Amino acid sequence: MKFVSTRGKSPAVSASQAILNGIAPDGGLYVPEEFPALSKDDLETLQTMTYAERAAYIISLYLTDYSYKDLEVYTKKAYSLFDGEDAAHIKLIEDDLYLMNLWHGPTQAFKDAALTLLPFLLTGARKITDAPGKTLILVATSGDTGKAALEGFKNVDGTEIIVFYPADGVSDMQKLQMQTTTGDNVHVIGINGNFDDAQTAVKLFFKDADAAAKCAEQGYYLSSANSINFGRLVPQIVYYISAYLDIVAGDEGVDGEEINFVVPTGNFGNVLAGYYAKKMGLPINKLIVASNSNSVLTDFFALGRYDTNRPFIKTISPSMDILISSNLERLLFEYNERNGGKTADLMSRLDVQGLYNVDIDDFIDKLPEFAAFSTDEDETKQTIESFFDMTGELIDPHTAVAVSAFYNYCESASDKNKTVVVSTASPYKFPQDVLTALTGKGGKDAFDAVKKLHSYTDEPVPKPIAALKTLPVLHTAVIDKTKTKEAIFEILANRSNRA
Ligand SMILES: *Cc1c(COP(=O)(O)O)cnc(C)c1O
Repeated sequence: MKFVSTRGKSPAVSASQAILNGIAPDGGLYVPEEFPALSKDDLETLQTMTYAERAAYIISLYLTDYSYKDLEVYTKKAYSLFDGEDAAHIKLIEDDLYLMNLWHGPTQAFKDAALTLLPFLLTGARKITDAPGKTLILVATSGDTGKAALEGFKNVDGTEIIVFYPADGVSDMQKLQMQTTTGDNVHVIGINGNFDDAQTAVKLFFKDADAAAKCAEQGYYLSSANSINFGRLVPQIVYYISAYLDIVAGDEGVDGEEINFVVPTGNFGNVLAGYYAKKMGLPINKLIVASNSNSVLTDFFALGRYDTNRPFIKTISPSMDILISSNLERLLFEYNERNGGKTADLMSRLDVQGLYNVDIDDFIDKLPEFAAFSTDEDETKQTIESFFDMTGELIDPHTAVAVSAFYNYCESASDKNKTVVVSTASPYKFPQDVLTALTGKGGKDAFDAVKKLHSYTDEPVPKPIAALKTLPVLHTAVIDKTKTKEAIFEILANRSNRA
């Protein structure tokens, strides 16, 4: 399997090279040149497998230059880091509504489903391609990718990782999780800007040939741990297929019944992985894109107009505070029937004017599986409260946005298919806002809120969150958003001096 760029101007590369590069040289994103088909036989084979085995099987259909044996070792190691037997827990909540809990990994967010595995895929890629030097991993985070990437890559040989996060745009717990990360090769830097600023800075660095050359002089080759890297997406396809097997296939076997997924969405990576599962042949009816008050995607799916010329709103679901959803580019590539030139044209409009348009009727014709809803702050809080009252399930604000989208969808459509809401983070990552939603009042600080939330709900506190209280804060740097390039070179210079 080869990987091509969504902008059509870079040569096709192997899977390992796509993962090492992170982003294509023309600024586009790597996509598989075709979608491997998932047959009924495949589904039946997968049915009896563990989650790690399912992951190796599905990922091997894309990463054809990795050995199957290696993939089995990687997935087994990665998914043993999750509490319980599965990285994706399915729970029936009420008639035909399921929650898929993806946050029982090391950092309490669904990002672990991919970022526990990516270090193995990257180290494997270095071996397969006989890569020189070291890999420098640049990360922009809206809160959860940062910690998951830091945990995944800390002390991994041959890698150095730098994470940029919005200094005032993540929850206290998210910030503490990042700032307390140990490891010889990790760097965590706040910027006085939002996630889009961080992501744009990282993408610009990737496009900057001089910067790349300067890194190479010092023996560093760039890669990304953001969902622009195909190595982040491919593990996410797995849990859609696994959910289907657990819910529908069950005892009666695969019968082709279609199901829906509701996905709380920011950078469009998670829901895109669901779309890829559908392209492989998984019987999915609707993919419901749930946004918070930053409703740029909801508007796009309704009007065909993607317009970032609007205020950036800070919400209680900060990991979805995003106006430039990078992975939408991969969907546009499919919409444009894989025409790189057309896709590049839309992306350059986005760069220059901050907006682009597609013909909405044509778009809906070609991609009828998508629906989209947005939820404001009040409704998010109300959903946390009412869902807890009704079902006893404590959900975090991101998941609440998805639950709310589900109920909005039910009102707008009569759809009898089973539906899975993707639950993306532990409520204890956002204790103040969740406590306030339930009781009308926050705690004195984040840890006080954790304590009160626990006594109010009885929901167990994840050990790594409780442990944060006494861990030393190691990374406190905050820089101007225009100074990221200098910061990167300063880190590399210090590394070289020490070596
Ligand atoms: C990252 C994140 C999202 C959004 O996922 P995308 O792949 O960026 O769309 C939703 N919820 C949580 C908790 C997250 O960390």
